[in-house]
This record gives sequence, C-alpha cells and structure tokens, in this order.
Amino acid sequence: MPFRAAFRTFGCKLNQLETEALAGAFRDSGALLVPFSESADVYVVNTCTVTGKAEQKARREIRRALRTNPRAVVLVTGCWAELGADEVSALGPRTVVIPGSRKDDAALLASDLAEAWEKGMDLAEAAERGRDARSGRGHDPFAFRPETFLLHSRASLKVQDGCDNRCAYCRVCLARGPSRSLAPGEVVERARSLSERGAREIVLTGVNLSQYRSGGLAMPGLLSLLVRETEGVSYRLSSWEPDRVDEEFLAAFSLPRVRNHLHLAVQSGCDAVLARMGRGYRSDAVRRAVRDLRAAKPDPFLGADLIAGFPGETEAEFRTTFDLAAELDFAWIHAFPFSPRPGTKAFGMRPRVAERIAGERVEALLDLGRRGREAYAARSVGRLTRAVLEDPREEEGPEPSGGGIDFEGGPDPAREACADPGSEEVDVAAGSGAPRVSGIGAAPALPEGDRATAVSAVSDEYLRLEVTGIPEALRRRGAEVACRIAEAFPGAGDLGIPDARAEFVGS
Ligand code: SF4
Repeated sequence: MPFRAAFRTFGCKLNQLETEALAGAFRDSGALLVPFSESADVYVVNTCTVTGKAEQKARREIRRALRTNPRAVVLVTGCWAELGADEVSALGPRTVVIPGSRKDDAALLASDLAEAWEKGMDLAEAAERGRDARSGRGHDPFAFRPETFLLHSRASLKVQDGCDNRCAYCRVCLARGPSRSLAPGEVVERARSLSERGAREIVLTGVNLSQYRSGGLAMPGLLSLLVRETEGVSYRLSSWEPDRVDEEFLAAFSLPRVRNHLHLAVQSGCDAVLARMGRGYRSDAVRRAVRDLRAAKPDPFLGADLIAGFPGETEAEFRTTFDLAAELDFAWIHAFPFSPRPGTKAFGMRPRVAERIAGERVEALLDLGRRGREAYAARSVGRLTRAVLEDPREEEGPEPSGGGIDFEGGPDPAREACADPGSEEVDVAAGSGAPRVSGIGAAPALPEGDRATAVSAVSDEYLRLEVTGIPEALRRRGAEVACRIAEAFPGAGDLGIPDARAEFVGS
C-alpha cells in the first residue's frame, strides 16, 4: 500500500506554487495524495506569517493533522516555520520543521519517506534524519518547478523571491530574505516548457516582482523577452508596486499578450500613513499609476491591496484612503486589518487602532471593492475578450487517484499578491475526482438551458465568467476561447458568484 500524503497551503500564490511542486515530488515518489481532512501518513503544511491569524490557522491545522493520525509526521515549512521554528516544534514531537529558506528539502524528503515507509520505519524519525543530513547544503529558491499544471487552467512561474524593502508592517521580507531573481534565459526556457505542455496563460509570481533584476533586465524587459521568445501564451503579473508604473513598465504592460489586469500594492491612500508604513511613494504616485495604466490598455481590471487600522490611523486618515480608493474606482479591493507582527517596526508603534474599528474600516473598503467589481462587470458587457476555461461541464470521470491537485478556489486577484494576508487555505487533493464548484448555482440569471453546457472561465481581465455555447470538443480545462460578455450578474462582487455570462465567439 502506498503512503498517503496530504497538503495544506496558507498565504500567497508563491506558496501555492511551491506546494504544488512539493506535491509533485511526493506523487513521483509513490505517495497517494489525499485531502487534508483525511487520515494521511505525511501531512505537509506550507505556512504564512503575514498575519497572526495566518499562524493561528496553521497551528490549528497542524494540531488537527496530529489528532487525525497520531502516527503521521507533519512537515511544516514556509514563512512561519522560518521565523517561528521553536513555536512550531512545540506543537508536538511528530512535527518536523523545515524552515521556509530550506523548503526545497521538503521535496527531497519525499523519497526518504517513501523508502522509510517501505521498510516500515518511523516516518517522523526518517524525516528528521533526512532534514538534518541536508543541513549544510545550499538552497535554490527556484528549485520549485511544478510539472502538473496540465491539471490546472493557468500555470504559475516563480521568477523572483525575497524583498529588499523593509515596510514597517511586513514580516514576509524577513522570512523570505533579500530579493533574488531567476535568470531570464531560464525563465524563457521554463515558460516554453509550460507552453508546450498546454498552458495558455502563465502567472509570473514573486514576493516583489518590481524587484526582479537579472541579466541586465528588470520586469518590463523580462516581459518583452517572454513575449518575443514564446508563442501562444499570455502573461499575467501577480502584483505590482504603484511607483514602478513607469514608461518602461507601461510599454510592456501594453503588449497584447500581457493580461489586461494588474493588482497594485497600494496599502494606504493617505500620505502620512504611507510614510509611517515606510512605503516609498505617496498617493500622487498611485493616482498617476492608475491613470497611466488606463491609458495603456482599454479599461484594465485594476485591483488594490489596502491595510486598515495601521497604528495611529485616525478617522480622517482612513477617510483619505477610502476616498482615494473610491476616486480610483478599483475593480477589486483586498482590504485587511493591520496585524502587529513581531520583528517589524510597526510592532512597537502606538497608538494601536482598536480591532473593532479596524474591522469596520476593512468592511467599508471591501464593500467599496464589491461595488467596484460589480460596476466593472456591468461596463464590460459587450466586450470581446479571451478566457481560459476552468471547469468543463462534462467531466471525463474521476482523475486517477490523487490526480486532483487543485489550488484554485476561484480567481481572487488578491491571492496572487506578494504579501497577501488573506491566508487562503488550499488543500491539494480536495478536488480529487470531483467536479469543481463553478459558482454557477449562484448565477440565477443564467438561462436553464445554458446550465448544462456553461463553462467557468477566467477572462483576460480576470473576470470570472460562465461561457455558454462552447462546442463540446473545445470544452477542456486550460483551453483558451474568444467570447463576448453578454450580461453581468448582480452581486458579482461577492466571492463565489461569477461576474458575468459570456458567449463563445471562436477558439
Ligand atoms: S510589503 Fe511587499 S514590498 Fe514591503 S517589505 Fe513586504 S514584501 Fe517587501
């Protein structure tokens, strides 16, 4: 009997991509991937440290895993494992910590554990031995190269890691270290390989993509190179800094094969708060960025990260942020309350904003974002776009056991942000053998007759679509089709509700 492995991921797109690579390594070593809620022999928890809540959730999941199978080993890696190793180890003797900076060791442990399983040895001991034996070796942050993207609609490619900034609230830079970039030639080679295996869209990910520097290229140069050197694949950036929307970036962004969507790490619209946060720009840069992006492409889908309740944030300062967000009419707002993180400058800042007030401010921003998204979907009606299919209505039956590696619970631009504190919990095998939830049930405007054949898709602009009229032969996850947006669904700003219905136009 093969050993069973289960995976849980918290945090950003980068973590999700890295877990996918880890899951691939375990599967290649003969593991059967099972949902995290089931009994497994090895649990892998890829943690996030961006908020206290993210750590709390990871702690809960680790305890749950230890309860579900007390003989299992729980491998804990990621940013929290990097910064809070002692705390993680204290959760139980069968918890084996692999610091985030050594995450690639977790992939190498897959074969050690397979061997130990075959020999009937204790898995926790084998994991510790394997980890310690590799303690002196160098680590490659770009070792993660998932080979299983054909199971997904959109591929991700890690091109950057770490961050040289020291924003007052951020612990990610402490956990991930200084900025490192993957060489352009290697990026092109990996993108070609993904494209040859069927990817029609590649999301370029990193902790801070605006710090990409390699071989004399920054991100705009890399994007242009990718577009030149590959065919039939489009590129989406996970997120971007407002003050890096310069001429060069705009030229790259305006390329037809660069998606018409960008998530900006705005964080605040108030200059005084931005200064306290240690952000290197002010609100005028955000305004300029949005104006220039809108001039570069037709009505791009622009999202923003915003933090509410940063220490000392007054009602008037919050109002300034809210007003800027309203003025700029973002199609998506990812708002979250400030979370004091040990080791950061903001940890000691006073006065702290009461949790209740920060929560109310977050709600106000989220509500604004929901309205922005609904308005964006409404004004997209009639638009001709391209979309990558996510959920064929006619499944070909269950995938082979463990084949349902599935990270995407629905396209949420914020989940791709570098320091996304949403701490999405993603269960690698949760989708095994089961059709994906398309959200279609929440789309009452969809005519009954279309329900059987509508396919969930993500548009160029990152709208969640239900595309009708796609010929059966083309209904394949990951395929790209041309479609026209026919109607927007009310309530589209809410998670789980598709934004609009689109009609198939061609392939
Ligand atoms: S918030 Fe982003 S830019 Fe600032 S330190 Fe963290 S990772 Fe770097």
